[in-house]
Amino acid sequence: MPEFDLLPRGVLQGTVERMLLDRATQPESRALLEEVLRVIKGMPAANAVQVVHAHWRSDTWCSHCGAVKLYSPDNRKSNLFCHMCAAKMDGGEG
Ligand SMILES: [Zn+2]
Repeated sequence: MPEFDLLPRGVLQGTVERMLLDRATQPESRALLEEVLRVIKGMPAANAVQVVHAHWRSDTWCSHCGAVKLYSPDNRKSNLFCHMCAAKMDGGEG
């Protein structure tokens, strides 16, 4: 499955708007940045959620929500994500 970088539209839009206000003194540069803004506003939204990175504290508690790790015969697979908050258990601080 391909991976994508997802950028918050508002941050990108705000950056271009600041460039438009601060740096675009020539009509050509203003027109170019206004076109960039139109493109940004027209891009489709992704149906995505931000991944929370966490770890199992003392190999027992989720560092993000405090849920107790579940034990099952298939421990390795079931503990890659927290069953309560869905944090990805890859060593992040959570
Ligand atoms: Zn959790």
